[in-house]
Order: sequence, then structure tokens, then C-alpha cells
Amino acid sequence: DKIVKKGKTMKFHTKYLWVHTKNIHDYINITRDVEQALYESGINDGMILVSAMHITAGIYVNDAESGLIQDIEKWLEDVAPFNINYKHHQTGETNGDAHLKSLVIGHEIIVPVTDGRLDFGTWQQIYYAEFDGQRDKRILIKVMGE
Ligand code: ZN
Repeated sequence: DKIVKKGKTMKFHTKYLWVHTKNIHDYINITRDVEQALYESGINDGMILVSAMHITAGIYVNDAESGLIQDIEKWLEDVAPFNINYKHHQTGETNGDAHLKSLVIGHEIIVPVTDGRLDFGTWQQIYYAEFDGQRDKRILIKVMGE
């Protein structure tokens, strides 16, 4: 493909969201926060990196439909169950399953931006998944483009 240089300058806008969940496990729809960061950036065409700044949380894109979070929670518990016998717990921690759940979900996503909007399919929403909550955590949103 031919690359056309338009003579514009790439811009970056970085924003941090703080979360402090009431529960140890929680799932928060952050789509509106990401849209707000995009709006603040003034960027029309590019992409957005959304990253959980923790090794016991994740970011994913999926539907906001009823029942799905309960299904995801059950599936994660099957794949990466809470278990007191993890080797990681020899450090004195008890969150071995949270590290594994984070690896299953993944810690970051990229969202395409076209015409100043998240270029999503009809049902795509952005979620922060917490697996070791009840304390302050941060999410990075970095909007890149022109
Ligand atoms: Zn740990």
C-alpha cells in the first residue's frame, strides 16, 4: 500500500483514571471515560491505548448485555481458580489467582478512532476487570493520532 504523508503532526493525549472498587472482583464499563479522553484530545483519526496499570486487573472489549459479566466471572474462576496453594503465596500474598486472571483477560487494548469517534461495532464496549480490588488502582488512556 502507498503511504501518503499529509503533512500533519501526530498528537498524543494521556489521561489516568482512578478506580477503587467496593468488591475484590469487579467489572466496570469505562467506554464513556475513553470517549471523554478522545473528546479532550481533539484527535480525529488515530487510536487509543487503554491499559490497566496493574498485574491483577485487565482491560477487555465485549458486550454490555445482561448475564455476560456473571458468565465471564464463572469462566475465569474455572480457568484460573482461587487456590491457597499457589507458589506465589509463599511471598505472603494471597492473590495468585488474580495474576492468572489478568493474563487470561489481557492488560491492555487498542481502540481505533475514525472521524473523531471510537470506530466500534454496534455492541463493543470497553471494560476494566478488577481481580484484586478494594484499593486505589489506575488505568492509562493514551490517545494517539491527528
Ligand atoms: Zn501478587
